[in-house]
Amino acid sequence: MDKHKLLQQYWGYASFRKPQASIIDAVLQNKDSFAVLPTGAGKSLCYQLPALLLSGTTLVVTPLIALMEDQVKDLKNRGIKAMYFEAATPLQSIVQQIDNCIHGNYALVYVSPERLQQSAFLERISQANIVRIAIDEAHCISSWGHDFRPSYRKIKVLRTLFPEASFLALTASATPEVAQDILEQLEMPSAQRFSLSFERSNLFYKTWVAEDKWQAAHAQLQQYPGSGIIYCFSRIHTERLAAYLKQQGVAADYFHGGMEAEEKKDKLAAWQSDKTRIMVATTAFGMGIDKKDVRLVVHLDMPESIENYYQETGRAGRDGLPATAVLLLHSSDQTEMKMRFIDHLPTVESLQKTYKHLCNYFQIAYGEGPDRQFDLALSSFCEHYGIDEKQTLATLRLLEEAGVLKLKSTEKKLLEVHALVDQSVVLQELRQNTNAKSNALLHYLLRAHEYFFSAAIQLDVSKMGQQLQMGKQQILKELQHLQQKQLIRFTDQHIDFVIYDMQAREDAYTLAPLNVQVKANQARKKSKLNAMYRYAWDTQKCKRNQILTYFGELKTDNCSQCSAHCCSATPHIKELLSVLESQLKSAALSAVELRQKLYFEPQFISDGLQQLLEDEKIILKNDYKYHWIDD
Ligand code: ADP
Ligand code: MG
Repeated sequence: MDKHKLLQQYWGYASFRKPQASIIDAVLQNKDSFAVLPTGAGKSLCYQLPALLLSGTTLVVTPLIALMEDQVKDLKNRGIKAMYFEAATPLQSIVQQIDNCIHGNYALVYVSPERLQQSAFLERISQANIVRIAIDEAHCISSWGHDFRPSYRKIKVLRTLFPEASFLALTASATPEVAQDILEQLEMPSAQRFSLSFERSNLFYKTWVAEDKWQAAHAQLQQYPGSGIIYCFSRIHTERLAAYLKQQGVAADYFHGGMEAEEKKDKLAAWQSDKTRIMVATTAFGMGIDKKDVRLVVHLDMPESIENYYQETGRAGRDGLPATAVLLLHSSDQTEMKMRFIDHLPTVESLQKTYKHLCNYFQIAYGEGPDRQFDLALSSFCEHYGIDEKQTLATLRLLEEAGVLKLKSTEKKLLEVHALVDQSVVLQELRQNTNAKSNALLHYLLRAHEYFFSAAIQLDVSKMGQQLQMGKQQILKELQHLQQKQLIRFTDQHIDFVIYDMQAREDAYTLAPLNVQVKANQARKKSKLNAMYRYAWDTQKCKRNQILTYFGELKTDNCSQCSAHCCSATPHIKELLSVLESQLKSAALSAVELRQKLYFEPQFISDGLQQLLEDEKIILKNDYKYHWIDD
């Protein structure tokens, strides 16, 4: 069957968009290819459709579970065999799943980059008939990109594992540096390249100064009907703002990286089916999620780069209809952003310190081999040394990037249990107690640990769960019960990382090459942040053009639909004057009040007021308010 027929039959689309057909041809010819196409251009189709045309399986590497789920569901609905590996699946069932993949004729198999770090997984999957590899959101591979994921760097193991398979890398945002990095990292210097303009002609870019950002966000929602996303930097802000909006009668909800998978799934579904109109979210929300009719994206906090901003606003208007992207600004933003994005960056000093602390904390001796593993609970580690958690995390990531150590995220819980009584009391308790569960637990503690009565012992909750046939929650409940009875005391600690392959300790040599990198990294982040800041506060240049220039595209005209002076002043002055008239006729208002109520660019409001003053329609009185002069 030819590709046009497939497009009709499985997707019901009449034709390919530019340059889908040429990319698909390159893939079919087994050439390495690299596509930089804006969000919504239809990148997925470029690896999905060829997967149907050739025998064998296409392996798709993609960073987010939500994204995999979304695509696999969509493919299944279209009658295409696809599967993905759940993040939380234990290795046992993964093995089973890979066997299904090997024998089950799957066209597409989705995998997260983290999976590629598991040797058991790699060993198994190497037996599958993987003939093509697609790397979606490929910018994650580059530390120049806005979403760097160290595990993306592991993708190249697939080259060795499947030497015959061609690579297709896709991304929606690649400055020249990122593009270069992607090609190098994926070892495909002569890949065929495809790109499209980054212009989103249906997007209206606006930046407004707002005294009260919540109120401003709410006003935007009233002004622009339809589905929307409000991005906040912090998780707690998403929750609070969503609650505020609900109070105002908006069907809003929140979404952030700290929620359970189940909860995320439900919330996403509610938003996708328009039960929830507005999702207040951290940027964990939305990457690659396919909802076409998002009409409004509001940023309460400035992202750290234009790439991020472009990507996040790109989630609006994917149906090609008009949509608005609003960035709310406040004079305190610059300080905030510095705190958020710069102050936590690793420094030469934090690097030395963190490394030294790690060696001490885990008692790693000079010259010790790299074969030990260490459980790291980040917060207690940082508390122990009185160091900043975010900076420490960033420093650890850098150490990993430089190959000094490896980090594996884990959801492991470590319990520390102290006995508060001696053995006779416990035995007596066992005789008297009729609760089978808590007895089982006590027996476990007695049997599993000979030192139970003399020292604090550490327990791995999932192991206990398996042996006792209890869930984690149940175990914690029973332990609490025993704690109430004053038999034990316990603390439960979340292990964030397992550290392994840590390089032998020779501080100066281990770290010297990193110092240059740390400085370069700082400079890079600062320059990205500055570009974002200039975009936000430059009210003169067309917003669309500012973005396109950043990506190396030059325009000769203006977009006439953004909030910059050149684009918005002339066409809407009549509208502004009539709005000012109706506002001031009903009540005298100060300039600040007007700015909060009206979502025109502040300078533009000042111009309007100036004109009304000159026309003697209004007067500024001692109360600093503008009063309408009755005709
Ligand atoms: P990207 O990954 O580039 O952001 P997607 O692959 O998610 O974009 O596609 C965006 C939307 O465009 C999807 O709903 C997809 O089904 C649709 N689409 C892709 N190709 C075509 C086409 N040739 N004709 C019509 N719609 C298409
Ligand atoms: Mg995509």
